Amino acid sequence: MIKVETVKCLKDNFSYVIHNNTEALVIDPSESRPINRLLEKLKLKLKYILNTHHHFDHVDGNSDLKEKYKCKIIGFIDDKKRIPGIDICLENHEVFNEGDFKFKIYHTPGHTSGHICYHFFDQKNLFTGDTLFSLSCGRLFEGTYEDMFKSLSLIKTFDEETLIYCGHEYTLANAKFCIKHDPNNEHLKKKIVSITENIKAGIPTIPTILKEELKCNIFLKAENIETFTKLRDLKDNF
Ligand code: ZN
Ligand code: FE
Repeated sequence: MIKVETVKCLKDNFSYVIHNNTEALVIDPSESRPINRLLEKLKLKLKYILNTHHHFDHVDGNSDLKEKYKCKIIGFIDDKKRIPGIDICLENHEVFNEGDFKFKIYHTPGHTSGHICYHFFDQKNLFTGDTLFSLSCGRLFEGTYEDMFKSLSLIKTFDEETLIYCGHEYTLANAKFCIKHDPNNEHLKKKIVSITENIKAGIPTIPTILKEELKCNIFLKAENIETFTKLRDLKDNF
């Protein structure tokens, strides 16, 4: 049995510790301290660090954690020069299978050229980093509109019961953008009620579920690249 623990890091980042009560891996450790605290509390041995991309707010905990736990760092082969401490370079669509930890990676460029998502297919958990957020998608730093549109189109093909674990708590601000441009969306209105309640109570709005995102996330609803491009530009200035 695999469990996912959500760890709040920095101002609005999420890292995720995935474990079987003994061994653990961590996705995108923004900083080492909160991860360490959780590992110690649950008495877990950290075996792997998984990075979705090279930005500091996703890799800054790498070296501390590697030193302490002698764990291995996993990332995309094209980013081997810019993921600190990388040990295992995976290729697009490669499956990693080690004990209880089994996942497949997908190259999803757009936010960065080497961004990947981690799919734990047995659990239907998808770790989307800064590609797909709840109710939005990542900014285009290195990729084109077409790159991101294609990456999101790929995610749309996953089972709609897939749980989406993203890299940031941006959901409320994203909801405000979505409702402005999609004012009659009843599914979105309902989702905003629950998001607002969670935020007030200090509870993460993540994970979200793909079937809700398909109905509410205006970037996933965009049917063509023109619409997507217009929305992405509007969001950058929102
Ligand atoms: Zn980023
Ligand atoms: Fe980020």
